[in-house]
Amino acid sequence: MTLGVYVQVPFCQTKCTYCNFHTGPVAKSLYDPFVESVLWEIRLCVKSPEGWLKQTVDTVYVGGGTPSLLEPAALARVLDALRRAFECAWEEVTLEADPETISPEKAAAWRAAGFNRISLGVQSFADAELKATGRMHRRADISSAVHALREAGFQNVSCDLIAGLPHQTASSWESSLGEMLDVRPEHISIYMMEIDEGSRLGREVLSGGSRYSAGALPSDDEMASFYELACARLAAAGYEHYEISNWALPGRRSRHNLKYWKREPYLGLGAGAHSFSGTHRWANAHDAAAYVRAIQQGRVPVEQMETVGADAALHEELFLGLRLLAGIDFAEIERRYNVSLAARLEELRAAGLVAIEGTRARLAAARLAVSNEVFVELLG
Ligand code: SF4
Repeated sequence: MTLGVYVQVPFCQTKCTYCNFHTGPVAKSLYDPFVESVLWEIRLCVKSPEGWLKQTVDTVYVGGGTPSLLEPAALARVLDALRRAFECAWEEVTLEADPETISPEKAAAWRAAGFNRISLGVQSFADAELKATGRMHRRADISSAVHALREAGFQNVSCDLIAGLPHQTASSWESSLGEMLDVRPEHISIYMMEIDEGSRLGREVLSGGSRYSAGALPSDDEMASFYELACARLAAAGYEHYEISNWALPGRRSRHNLKYWKREPYLGLGAGAHSFSGTHRWANAHDAAAYVRAIQQGRVPVEQMETVGADAALHEELFLGLRLLAGIDFAEIERRYNVSLAARLEELRAAGLVAIEGTRARLAAARLAVSNEVFVELLG
C-alpha cells in the first residue's frame, strides 16, 4: 500500500455563486502564515509514531480553493518539505489552477518545482455562464492557459466542466464539449450542478429568488441530457469513462483520486483537509484562521475524528466502489464483511438500477446521471 498526500489551500479570488466549499477570498498577507503552518504540519507528521505515515508517498494533490494563487516558490517549499518528510516515489503530483492565474513563467516554475499534472478549473467555455457564476476567467483565457502549460512541458492536464450552470443550453453545452475536446486534455471531469443551502445560488433557488441568475438554471432533465451527451461525445473521442464524473485517455486516470474511491490511505494537510488512515477519518479545522492559530499554538489542527466501524466501512465500500464504472466485486465484499448482498443487488438489478455480471455489480449505464437515487435505494 502507498500513501497519497492532499494539501488544501482554501483561498480564492472571489466566491463563485454555486460554491459550497469552505473557501473564499482573503488578504494576500494571510498566504504566507498559511504556508508556514502547512510546513509545520508536515514536520508534525515526521514526528508522528503512526505506522501508516511511514508508507511511500506516490501521489500528491494540491487543491482548493485556488492554490495557483500562491507564489510558485511557496508551492515549491511545500513539495520540498514533503520530500524531506516522507519516503517518496512520486508518480502524480497535481496542482489545481484556474485559467486566469496561469502565465508562462508560473507554469515553468510549477514544472521545475515537481508538479507533473495540472487540474484546470474550466467549468464552461461560454462567457455568459462564467460571468453569471462569478468566475474570473473567460473563454479566451482557457486556450492561453493550456498553451502555457503545454509549452512548460505539462503532458498531463485535466479540465473540469459543470453541467447545469445558469444560462447553459443544449447548444452552449455542446459547444463547451466540442471546445474541450479540441483542447484534448488527458483527463476530463464533468460535475453536475448541486443546489443546496451551502451556496449563495443554492439558497436563492431554495428560497424562490432570482438573484445570481437562479431563474436561468437548466432543469434536472436538461442536466441529465447534458451528462448523457458528454458520455457519448467523450467515448467517441477515445476517453475511458472510469468514474461517474471522470474520463481519461488510456493510462491517464487520476491515481490520486482513485485512492478515495478505493478506500486507500491519504493524508490531508491544510485547512479543511480530510484524512483516511484505513481505520479512522478526520478533518482539519475548516476555518483558515483557526487552522493557522492551532498550528501556531502547537496544537494538532484536527476538528473532527471518527473511527470507521464495520458497518460504515461496508457502506463506504458500496457507495465509493459503485462510483467506479468497473463496479464492485460483491462476492469479495460479502466474504470480507461477512454479509449477504446478492439478494438486495438482484432486486436492484430487476429494477434496472444496477447491472450484474458474475460477481461484479455496477451502476446501470442509464442510471449514471441519477446515481444519487440509486445510492439512496441501495443504502437506504
Ligand atoms: S474557485 Fe472553486 S473553490 Fe473557489 S469559490 Fe470558485 S468554486 Fe469555490
